[in-house]
Amino acid sequence: MHQPLLIFTDLDGSLLDHHSYSYAPAIPTLQQLEKLKVPIIPTTSKTYEELLCLRKELNNQHPFIVENGAAIYVPKGYFQTAPPKHHLVSSYEKDEFDCYVFSKCRETWQSLLQHLSRFFPDEFITFAQLGPSGIQSSTGLSSADAEKANSREFSEPLIWKSTEQRKQAFIAMLIESGANVLQGGRFLNVTGNCDKGQALKWLSEYYKKEKKNDELISIAAGDSQNDVAMLDAADKAIIIRSPVAPSPLIRNPNKYQTQATGPEGWTEGIKYFTNLRSESTTTHTPDLYSKR
Ligand SMILES: [Mg+2]
Repeated sequence: MHQPLLIFTDLDGSLLDHHSYSYAPAIPTLQQLEKLKVPIIPTTSKTYEELLCLRKELNNQHPFIVENGAAIYVPKGYFQTAPPKHHLVSSYEKDEFDCYVFSKCRETWQSLLQHLSRFFPDEFITFAQLGPSGIQSSTGLSSADAEKANSREFSEPLIWKSTEQRKQAFIAMLIESGANVLQGGRFLNVTGNCDKGQALKWLSEYYKKEKKNDELISIAAGDSQNDVAMLDAADKAIIIRSPVAPSPLIRNPNKYQTQATGPEGWTEGIKYFTNLRSESTTTHTPDLYSKR
């Protein structure tokens, strides 16, 4: 590995197994990357509350991107320079993080969906309407995890219950009203004019500015439609094979489609784009992140 890397990774179905949410098969590779000080940046539809627990479990000290690119949380003091200003809707401090926001708040999208329910009665059900128990039964999450999943700040997921044709009409009305609509593995996600790709570009720019290094290479790993913008925005794209859906089509020519699914596929993809093989092949990599 001769060039400094940033790794942006989707979680569900990518670093985490689609069914069991386990990341165990990726642990040795995660540990090797941590030793090399390569930032692993979770880039997910999950919420801040969900990520707080997960990054602790993963022992991850790096920034993370939540709610499909609606906000980026950066540990305070991680960067010494000022952030890029473009695309920012707001920024503030929250707990031990600086939070950079690229969407209007969740209530904005809830009001819009309430308004549209008059035109699409009984054709969709939102996260707020499902409540923690409904979220639990549609995701298989525990009760506590369903609560965290519902603690959204900038977006409203929903389950579409009607036809594909009606869905397209619904999406068109949402877009006309200023929303951005992303299809995830299970949910349609309504948020502002942001996505994982824009968040990847913004944060990569911040790293390049901070490290005074334009040579930083971004690798993105994802498995579904809501990862397309991120996979196209990255220098190198890893498409993790999904056990339940066809792989998303992307434009990025510098791509690798994995054979394995979930965390095994994640490891396969990272190894394809790096020279990570064993501990002995990585010991001479220069320390490019010596500040941390
Ligand atoms: Mg996914």
